[in-house]
Amino acid sequence: MKIKFCGAAKEVTGSTHLLILENGRKILLDCGLYQGHEPEFENFNDNWGFIPSELDFMILSHAHIDHCGRLPKLVKDGFSGKIYCTHATKALAVIMLTDSAKIQEMDAVFEQKRLEKRKRNKSFRDNEQPTQKVEPLYREEDVIKLIPQLTEVPYDNWFQIDEEVNLLLRDAGHILGSANVSLAIKESGKTINVGFSGDIGRPNRPILRDPIPMPEMDFVISESTYGNRDHESAPNEELKLLEIIKEVCVENRGKLIIPAFSLGRTQELVYIMDRLSSEGRLPRIPVYVDSPLSINATTVFMAHPECFDEDLHNYMLTDSNPFGFNGLRYIRKAEESKQLNEFIGPCVIISASGMGNAGRIRHHLFNNISNPRNGVLIVGYCAPQTPGGIIRSGADSLKLFGERLPIHAKVFVMDSFSAHGDRNEMFDFLKNQIDSAKNLFLVHGQIDAQESFRTMLLNAGFSKVTIPNLMEEHEL
Ligand SMILES: [Zn+2]
Repeated sequence: MKIKFCGAAKEVTGSTHLLILENGRKILLDCGLYQGHEPEFENFNDNWGFIPSELDFMILSHAHIDHCGRLPKLVKDGFSGKIYCTHATKALAVIMLTDSAKIQEMDAVFEQKRLEKRKRNKSFRDNEQPTQKVEPLYREEDVIKLIPQLTEVPYDNWFQIDEEVNLLLRDAGHILGSANVSLAIKESGKTINVGFSGDIGRPNRPILRDPIPMPEMDFVISESTYGNRDHESAPNEELKLLEIIKEVCVENRGKLIIPAFSLGRTQELVYIMDRLSSEGRLPRIPVYVDSPLSINATTVFMAHPECFDEDLHNYMLTDSNPFGFNGLRYIRKAEESKQLNEFIGPCVIISASGMGNAGRIRHHLFNNISNPRNGVLIVGYCAPQTPGGIIRSGADSLKLFGERLPIHAKVFVMDSFSAHGDRNEMFDFLKNQIDSAKNLFLVHGQIDAQESFRTMLLNAGFSKVTIPNLMEEHEL
């Protein structure tokens, strides 16, 4: 059999890998969207590197858009097979993709307007036609069409897909429903085991179970995002968050603005505050979660306790709703979100996106960042050019909605919330493969991180570690 790396090769986004069996059958692992703006990837989302209608089935590791974001396009382009994933991934993928479709549609309208402006000014680019109509990559209706193809597979049990292929999904501990993928494929009278890590989570995180390594595999495809990084040892998050809330909201009587991803980060923050509230330690100030996608994601969390770790199960014996406490309000409607601008007095506002480059959080930053009484808490990686990245770099001003604003709010950073394992955590997850893996392919990482992680793996005893290029094929 062969593997073709159709995405996330020397990149951290657009995860898409194709297995081609000897008899010509084709299995796709993940179907991610490229979300950046680098010119060399301009056409990535339109180019599959295979014919979607020829795929037999696909396996989805988890519901992050860089792993599932092109599924509606795959179906639109002719794929009609089953999409195997966990129960929680199915539920999350539907809400994430619906949100993504709205963004695609809005982007297309925006791009159309830009094109028409260039038409009026007769300033076309080389590849543009005067009659061009900008179409979104997919629409909400395309998401609805794929739902019947999403096929749930429970964790931890080998599942027979057909005569040749058996599938095992184990908890990746990365986001709700995330899995690593083990395949036992019968070919030429023997069984070849192929493992795909998906994204590797971290041990000892709130809410989710720890990552469970794959059984020993003949070939492994592994992510390598933090292949050259050690996460700082996690501080007492509860205590640190509490101190920040007290400083901003109690001592300074200000507002604490937290840009946070709707899926994962928001639920972790709410759960930590829920625990503090139950213990009577959280100051009595209003807490708002202002993001419809976060509300939908939290609803899915509540429906999938099979993904919770033991701590959370124990906690739920005394508090049946770990994502709701006195003083917490979820805000869905845009009018209510706008009313927060008028709100006087201390409060905490958690809103998306996590990097501050889209969504309602931009309005909260715009309204609050210049007041020295307020605080902004950054809880994860932000690309350098995004508002979150600019704020965490210590800049003294920020441009938002065309206006340059001085940053007088106090900036706090908590990096311990990462959902990706660092190099040691990834190594712990992979080390049982040292003797069995004939080749370990590193994907989903920048080249410096990949090269550093490859050296670490080879030194530890792995016989072969390959960093594939985009669209490269390898024999297994
Ligand atoms: Zn992920």
